[in-house]
Amino acid sequence: MRVEFDEDTCIGMYQCVAEWDAFEKDKSAGKAVLTGAEEVDDGVFALEVPEGAELDAKFAARTCPVDAIVLYDDDGEQLIP
Ligand code: SF4
Repeated sequence: MRVEFDEDTCIGMYQCVAEWDAFEKDKSAGKAVLTGAEEVDDGVFALEVPEGAELDAKFAARTCPVDAIVLYDDDGEQLIP
């Protein structure tokens, strides 16, 4: 499973931080940070979801009010949102 986080879309509500510890607050930027992710496009950060973190990643993606967190399965199919 792969997660993509769109920093430009993020509005810094930080619900994701409460759901998955891969997300941290960057209060000065007013954005979340996806720890360990690599920037794959302008402002888009991607990370392979570590084993055991799939459920947390799903909760984080579901809770984001602006759909800045997108999950894909191993075939590249979009799972959430
Ligand atoms: S829940 Fe969405 S909008 Fe809020 S900090 Fe996380 S990614 Fe950004």
